[in-house]
Amino acid sequence: MTVISRMAEQGHPQVSHFYDRATGLRAIIAVHSNALGPGVGGVRIRDYDDEAAALTDVLRLSEAMSYKAACAGLNCGGAKAVVLGPFPSDRRAGMHALGRAVDSLGGRYVATEDMGMTESDIAWLNEVTPHAVGRSLADGGSGDPSPHTADGVIVGMRAALQAARMGDDVRGLKVAVQGCGHVGLAVIERLLAGGAEVLASDIRADAAARAEQAGARVVDNDVILTQAVDVISPCGIGAILDQRTIAALRCRVVAGAANNQLATERDGIRLNERGIVYAPDFVINAGGLINVSDELDPNGYDAARVARRIAAIETTLTQLFAEAVAQNSTTDMAAVAMARSRIGANH
Ligand code: NAD
Repeated sequence: MTVISRMAEQGHPQVSHFYDRATGLRAIIAVHSNALGPGVGGVRIRDYDDEAAALTDVLRLSEAMSYKAACAGLNCGGAKAVVLGPFPSDRRAGMHALGRAVDSLGGRYVATEDMGMTESDIAWLNEVTPHAVGRSLADGGSGDPSPHTADGVIVGMRAALQAARMGDDVRGLKVAVQGCGHVGLAVIERLLAGGAEVLASDIRADAAARAEQAGARVVDNDVILTQAVDVISPCGIGAILDQRTIAALRCRVVAGAANNQLATERDGIRLNERGIVYAPDFVINAGGLINVSDELDPNGYDAARVARRIAAIETTLTQLFAEAVAQNSTTDMAAVAMARSRIGANH
């Protein structure tokens, strides 16, 4: 399928390819929607197998950003950039080349951090374009998104517990957290502070050790998803919910930060069939986007507004869980429908 056919299928108005002769930087920027505002999305730096894999990734990720922003009620569209690794060895020159590419889109795309990017990279992008957010707090930016993402996961978990008729409090509940990185550890700390019992796992011993130190009981990563618990909170990698793992789950709620938790759309139906309440990942993990996109406000970053918007994730999820039941649909499909209707209403 040609690039334009794929754009037509997924609804992208613009996909731009960039090559910088001086540094060798190769990048693709995909804009999925500007109906609600500038497309805010991370730059992902990755050693892709080939260009086709990079294109597939950027098309999928930019579409997901549109839905995430729309469900979070933000005045942002959806876009994303991928850089085909390895990144140029002169990092600053590479970031300047990338910044010029971002700038050429005139604000339709606003770059932020994703895999392989740091706050200092954003500062370098800002040397050549205003269309990059995610600077450090010291630089007047919004700082680390992870604690905000974790806050969203906690309020979203509360909504999911209510939908599962398990009250609205994690106190006394057993929660299994997979992945103890930036977000996972912050989720674990919040759960423990709220009186939950926490099991945790990670493929990295140092990350698991930090979870243990925080007060979680560490279990082998191969068995975390099959623990008899109230809630599974995936905070590591995506595509962990598939036919095999869903059949083996022993929980009533899945609510975590990892992106793309469902291996396929069909897996949302499988969770439904098992009576497990699933908080759609792109709704419950929007705290980081809510935080970083606040830098775009003409009056500057406002921590109180960010906190209010993150708290609203609970209301949005409650509404989505009700809509999924009413429409006999999955929570994931209900979330996509909600996003599309918000985007469509603004076209
Ligand atoms: P991170 O890299 O800091 O932590 C991820 C952790 O997961 C690492 O400790 C890693 O060892 C572990 N991990 C990787 N593969 C694993 C596996 N197969 N099983 C168990 N553990 C595994 O990343 P993060 O910023 O904490 O993000 C975690 C997830 O949340 C990612 O999927 C990310 O895309 C998503 N997310 C993060 C944010 C944010 O604000 N950082 C926002 C939205 C979504």
